[in-house]
Amino acid sequence: MEDCLFCRIARKEIPAQIVYEDDVVLAIKDINPQAPVHVLILPKEHFDSILTVPAGNDIISSIHIVANRLALKFGIVDSGFRLVNNCGEQGGQTVLHLHYHLLGGRNLNWPPG
Ligand code: AMP
Ligand code: ZN
Repeated sequence: MEDCLFCRIARKEIPAQIVYEDDVVLAIKDINPQAPVHVLILPKEHFDSILTVPAGNDIISSIHIVANRLALKFGIVDSGFRLVNNCGEQGGQTVLHLHYHLLGGRNLNWPPG
């Protein structure tokens, strides 16, 4: 998508702190971190949200596998972490390009605000 922020980051038109990249997935540090570890994991292909991922597409699985790898990389496996997808307005989604937040390195409250 031409003007989508995360598509532009995936095309390297806008700089970001990339912590993982393969053919289909990109992971970047969140610009406004809410925890000592706060990474965004996103498909390079544009999907507005999880609602528009077609049945049979394995991007969600790929994202979760990358999340596991990054949790190991950032040393938050033993302490625990949270993998969050915000979907839609009341779900708190502000960037309309599918992404998961990987959060860790502090005690994460439940329920979230
Ligand atoms: P959400 O509110 O779930 O859609 O998450 C969007 C996230 O993107 C927020 O946590 C923002 O801090 C983050 N964000 C916005 N712009 C950038 C950027 N240019 N680079 C990295 N993260 C960003
Ligand atoms: Zn996009």
